[in-house]
Amino acid sequence: MGLVTLKEILAGAREGHYAVGGFNFNNYEDAQGIVDGAVEKNSPVILMASAGAIKYMGLKQLAGMVKGMAAAVDIPICLHMDHATDHAMIKEGIREGFTSVMIDASTHPYEENIAQSKAIAEFAAIYGCSVEAELGKLGGREEDIVVDEASALFTNPDDVVRFVEETKIDALAVAIGTAHGFYKSEPKLDFPRLEKIASLTSCPLVLHGGTGVPVEDFKKCIQLGMSKINVGTELKATFSRTLRESVAKNPESEFDPRKYAGPVKAACAQVVKDKIDIFGSAGKAWKC
Ligand SMILES: [Zn+2]
Repeated sequence: MGLVTLKEILAGAREGHYAVGGFNFNNYEDAQGIVDGAVEKNSPVILMASAGAIKYMGLKQLAGMVKGMAAAVDIPICLHMDHATDHAMIKEGIREGFTSVMIDASTHPYEENIAQSKAIAEFAAIYGCSVEAELGKLGGREEDIVVDEASALFTNPDDVVRFVEETKIDALAVAIGTAHGFYKSEPKLDFPRLEKIASLTSCPLVLHGGTGVPVEDFKKCIQLGMSKINVGTELKATFSRTLRESVAKNPESEFDPRKYAGPVKAACAQVVKDKIDIFGSAGKAWKC
């Protein structure tokens, strides 16, 4: 199956009371692990590349790799650009076959956020690519984007309807108390705010900062209308820990790189399978 858009992959999520996982990758091993985990669960899945991952792997290389991975399996896979701020990179990604992009203009004032999100949505529409945008400011560190606790801003429900209608985006990231990176203390999610936002728009809603959110909170978010949940940090940590274990386990005479990096695939697949069980998307894959 080829890649599908974010709009297509999230279509039945809210009504079906499940969310589709968006998983960040930085290498071949974690990307293939994400795909393997989703295939085992027969679940749709979103592979997410941050600006940092794109700079590391190369945009063409990364897009070509994921297209190949999608062609080899028969579950729906979306290739999504995560937290992009550079319009030139976004447009190149769309031309190279990304089926979804996130324009993150959330650090700008409301009107500027609308203008940038709308401009990207208009460009993406020409290529049949989906767009996610963000309202409110998520705390924590997402690569080069650092928002301290005092500057973090919850999404104002009053801003939502005009934002979605004017920008014509396909998914809306909301700030309701999660943060990027590891949590220092358990996050306190604002469920009434989420419920209010979901009542105002049918636009699929996205939860960022999924690493370390308690299972019950995930389930409540999904029940209240969250359709996409992003997990990045947990996969990064899993990748690094698995590699460290491989190095410790193998004798110095072992020089086959696959003996070291190979176990990362299964470890990342396990993380993804566990999340798919929580998100309720197992068995929701469709065939073309
Ligand atoms: Zn994020």
